[in-house]
Amino acid sequence: MDYVIPPAPTPALAVRGTSARFPVRRIYCVGRNFAEHAKEMGATIDRGRPVFFGKPGDAVLPGGGAMPFPLGTTDLHHEVELVVALGRDAGGVVEPARALELVYGYTVGLDLTRRDLQAAAKAKGLPWFTAKAFDHSAPIGELVPVAQAGPVFTRRISLEVNGELRQQALLSDMVWSVADILHELSKLFALRAGDLVFMGTPAGVAALRPGDGYVASIEELARFEGALDA
Ligand code: MN
Repeated sequence: MDYVIPPAPTPALAVRGTSARFPVRRIYCVGRNFAEHAKEMGATIDRGRPVFFGKPGDAVLPGGGAMPFPLGTTDLHHEVELVVALGRDAGGVVEPARALELVYGYTVGLDLTRRDLQAAAKAKGLPWFTAKAFDHSAPIGELVPVAQAGPVFTRRISLEVNGELRQQALLSDMVWSVADILHELSKLFALRAGDLVFMGTPAGVAALRPGDGYVASIEELARFEGALDA
């Protein structure tokens, strides 16, 4: 294939136990999946319909590390989340009982959010695109294949900023399970191998400032560190 300009490189994640990498296609995100977080945002949860939004695949920042403070915001927020990586195409609507068969692995990631832009968008009923889908908005850890992950959904997720615990919760407190979310997404989009799903954040979201360092983790599963340039 000849291209008229060089094609962009494929964003890719490190995978535990192999030097091969996981190529990222799309990033789907779930909003309002922990009741206490919905409450802190002044929102209510519609248990009949999850909130979805997205980020471009090249928003990933594999392994975290240093990143520039994002453009266009004075209120950058952290949202630590379970991330699900799909290893197979859904091929249509996937039933909840079979949805986990699509999963390649799990890790922890941050859904970084320009909260000031999101608040302005919400106030006007406008999309969250500029609030969520920016460059480096998805720092993410090493992917852990299902066979090495053990039980995931009972584990504790947490985020420390400058050594202070900001967010923590049990993944069992999620309103929608991974299987439910994959079922709902598959009714709206053709899910494909390479897709990531950010499962929503617990309470405790707050600002990251220039120079801040963070540690994101899911106990006994995944952990990575990062920092905002000063
Ligand atoms: Mn989020």
